[in-house]
Formats: sequence, structure tokens, C-alpha cells
Amino acid sequence: MAGLFLISFDCEGNWGIADRRDRIESRFITRHGLSQAYLALLKLLDVYDMPATFAFVMAFVLRDSERAEWQTRLTDVTCDGRNWMENFRRAESRCDLDGWFCPEALDMVMADRRHEIGCHGLRHVPFTGEGVTEDVIRIELACASEIASSRGIDLRTFVFPRNEVGRPDLLAEYGYRGFRNAHPRLGRLGRIGNLLRECDVWERAQPEETSVSGLVSIPGGCFINWQKGARRLVPRSLCRARWKSIIADAADNDRVAGVFLHPHNLIDGPETLLFLEDVLALVAEYREKRGLRVVTQAEYCAERAIAHCTPAFN
Ligand SMILES: [Zn+2]
Repeated sequence: MAGLFLISFDCEGNWGIADRRDRIESRFITRHGLSQAYLALLKLLDVYDMPATFAFVMAFVLRDSERAEWQTRLTDVTCDGRNWMENFRRAESRCDLDGWFCPEALDMVMADRRHEIGCHGLRHVPFTGEGVTEDVIRIELACASEIASSRGIDLRTFVFPRNEVGRPDLLAEYGYRGFRNAHPRLGRLGRIGNLLRECDVWERAQPEETSVSGLVSIPGGCFINWQKGARRLVPRSLCRARWKSIIADAADNDRVAGVFLHPHNLIDGPETLLFLEDVLALVAEYREKRGLRVVTQAEYCAERAIAHCTPAFN
């Protein structure tokens, strides 16, 4: 298998920060801002002719006309000793749900037929959260599938909320072929460690991973250098050098590399788009020169399944 590159987006709006009252109340995520972010990302992918996986929190894509029915089904959930829905309830009581729903984001991605729609949960409830039971996880998965089916979407791959892999054994029951695993270096040394890692110009791509509970474990890839806070201190040239090392290793040694971010990262860090463009330009260069292939998570899983079923001839 030649070197592969995967691009994925964790699409979530306020659901991704549902337990962070200060961030929610800063009101930086708006429906308008989200629409602009998705538009910019789709345009960039079009310029480089690359497919991506957009993993959606399925409640996020509920249409205004569907919300009345679904809001009664979005019941409280205990996670790490708190109600995961606490800030949503507060927004509901104020009749101000800006940032929680953006169905047009899904419409835009679906209209551009090259991309995969993946799943990032129903409400972004972390599967590893204390008090999050199997019943809760099953409700998340069943409701996510129900919403996807109503849009004619067959969900094939899963991105765990907060990148915390939990109960992958349940995913196969709901038709998933694979999940994006967490990068082994992600979060190992905390925030400082993650920041230092973004300066590692010798960072390499990843090897294939062994399957888990019959599912393809998709190498997690790296978070883009989101242009906010301390990350802004990392020079663009250093980021470019790091990504060149990762991408060259994938292309030259038949390994797997990937980049991920949240579309809303473009709202509070607009320059992030420039950093993503640097990465895609390098990927395009190695696609041209070294045969690097850009695939969606679902395509990656399909190729891995074939590779496993094909007997080796020598
Ligand atoms: Zn997320």
C-alpha cells in the first residue's frame, strides 16, 4: 500500500464544549461563523481536489423543523459528576441556541459529493466519562444513526468525542467499519507536551494499526496548529517543516499520516486556514511527486478490509 494521507474534521459547534460554561458564554461560536468556516474549508479542499471526512455530532445537524421533536429526546446525561446537558439547558431556557445547531453545514458538505460524512456522537458525550453507561452509549449511537438515516447517510467511521476511545466493541453493532484512534503521543505530556510536539520537525507518520473488536483502527494523525493562544508562538515555517517531515515519511515509507481540526477553530483562529493550506500544498506536492494518496476514513477502512481478505501470493 502506498503512503496515505487522511483529512478529518470534528464537526460539533457548541456540543464539543458543552461542559465548558466560560467558552459557551463567550459566544464565539455562531451559526453564521460556522457556515463561513465550512464554506472556507470546502473551497480549500476543492482547490486541492482532496476528499475529507467530516465527522458530525448528529444533534448539531438537526433542522429547525426537527428540533421540537428531538429536544424532548435529548435528555440529561451524567458525565464526570455533572449533567452534560447543563449548558444546553441554560441556552434552551434563554431561547438562544445559536451555535448548537447548523444543519446547513451538513448540507454544504453533502452537496460536494467527494467527502465522507462520519459520526462524532449524538451530543459529544465522552464515552469514557465517569457515569456514562453502556445504555447511554447505545442511545448516543442509535439516535446518531437515526438522524443520519433520515438524511440518507450510511455512517461508516466514528471519531470519539474528545478523542477518548471507549467501548469500540459497540460500534460494529451499529454498522461502523472503523474509528479514528488517538495518536499515541496525543496528550501524553499534557498541554505543554502537545505544544512542544508541534515544534518537532522530525515527527514521523504512523504505521498501520491492528484492528480492535473487528474494526479498523485508523491512525489518529495530528491536530493542526490552531492559531490561538500559545500555539500562535509556533512560527509558520516551523509548522511547515514539521508537516513536511510527517508527509515525506508517509510517502517514502508507505506509512499513514493525517491532519484534523474543528471547523470552528477557524472562527477564533482564522489564520488556522493558512496553516491548513500549507499542509495541503505539501500533500499535493507529494501526491504529484511520490504517489501519496489522499483517502477518506471510509476508503481507508475499505482498503484495509480488502488487504486482510486477500491472500498473500509470493
Ligand atoms: Zn469533538
